[in-house]
Amino acid sequence: MKGRKLLMIPGPIEFEPEVLQALAMPTNSHVAPHFIESFGNSLELMRKVWKAPGGQPFIVAGSGTLAMDMAAANLIEAGDKVLVVSTGYFGRRFKDIFDRYGADTKLLEAPLGEVVSLEAIEKELKTEKYKALSVTHVDTSTGVLVNPEPIANLAKKYKVLSILDGVCSVAGEEVLQEEWGLDVVLTGSQKAIGVPPGLALLMASQKAMEIWKNRKSPVPNYYADWNNWLPIMKAYQERKPSYFGTPAVNLIVALEAGLKMITAEGMEKRINRHRVLAKAFRAALSAINLQILPEREEIAANTLTAVYYPKNVDGAALLSKMGQNDVILAGGLLSEVKSKYFRVGHMGAVSANDLLAVLGALERSLQDLKHQFEPGKALQAFQKGHLPSA
Ligand SMILES: *Cc1c(COP(=O)(O)O)cnc(C)c1O
Repeated sequence: MKGRKLLMIPGPIEFEPEVLQALAMPTNSHVAPHFIESFGNSLELMRKVWKAPGGQPFIVAGSGTLAMDMAAANLIEAGDKVLVVSTGYFGRRFKDIFDRYGADTKLLEAPLGEVVSLEAIEKELKTEKYKALSVTHVDTSTGVLVNPEPIANLAKKYKVLSILDGVCSVAGEEVLQEEWGLDVVLTGSQKAIGVPPGLALLMASQKAMEIWKNRKSPVPNYYADWNNWLPIMKAYQERKPSYFGTPAVNLIVALEAGLKMITAEGMEKRINRHRVLAKAFRAALSAINLQILPEREEIAANTLTAVYYPKNVDGAALLSKMGQNDVILAGGLLSEVKSKYFRVGHMGAVSANDLLAVLGALERSLQDLKHQFEPGKALQAFQKGHLPSA
């Protein structure tokens, strides 16, 4: 008994041993040639993962929320109209961030488990002259997946900047930043990128950089200001030493290792692995009478699943039993239904074996808690569903 537990929350996730090894390397100077190379490589690899060959990447110490803050601080000025397309908790957070910079924000929120319709978005864009819109690709509070492509198209049509919160999607769901014409796609290191928490990662289009350059007012946030960070990113891209704020040296070395593994797997293959596993996992849940938050299969995320506790099963007891069975899951996050559901992360290094372990532990835990189902059904449905032919 090693007491080894499987961390299956929507970030931080289980990390690849190679990434953790890179993290444990002796800390270099931030201007050492080796480190400059790692930073430069990471910037280049980000463009491949984001599918944004002409984009401007930023790697800054902080969490995913800093990446959101950075997008808002640099692109929004007081009085700007911003449309927030929300599918849960993180949409609401983006509204709070835009509001902090004085934006005139409109929250367009989907009913629980649904997405906002394209008609509703277009109606808004037609009625008001917005400067920017934000979309959450996968809202980690609901497990709802939004298709960013048609929304990016609408943004282009109405000449609105498009900002994608990809914190729970980049490197797990399909993101084609340049092809879709998204102006900002941002994430944090600890989700599908698969690197321990601590890096805010953001890719800006050339159009976004132009809009930032032509601001009328200074960026009202010192740490997030691209005036401070752009010269640093450019220096590392050119493999030159520079300094603004000490970079998270070890995390960036780990990021390079992680991005190399992601691109070695190949984006299409990686995204497909997430799709196949997630679909089989949903089939398994359904086989033991568990219901997910997203209303439809097409809008269910492939990086995590939000699941209602069965009736007559105490949520806290289930999570605690799962922990005793060596699987760590997350509770609910969206305030209205927080105590009614739990979340399972399945992104990054996730394998079929991990999800079988989750389902095995879930079946045992639910049996202990007297949920009515046929034991073995979830495992069977998963095995059937994850076959390549399924
Ligand atoms: C986790 C998450 C965030 C916040 O990221 P932190 O790293 O926790 O600051 C924002 N948006 C989404 C969609 C997330 O999943």
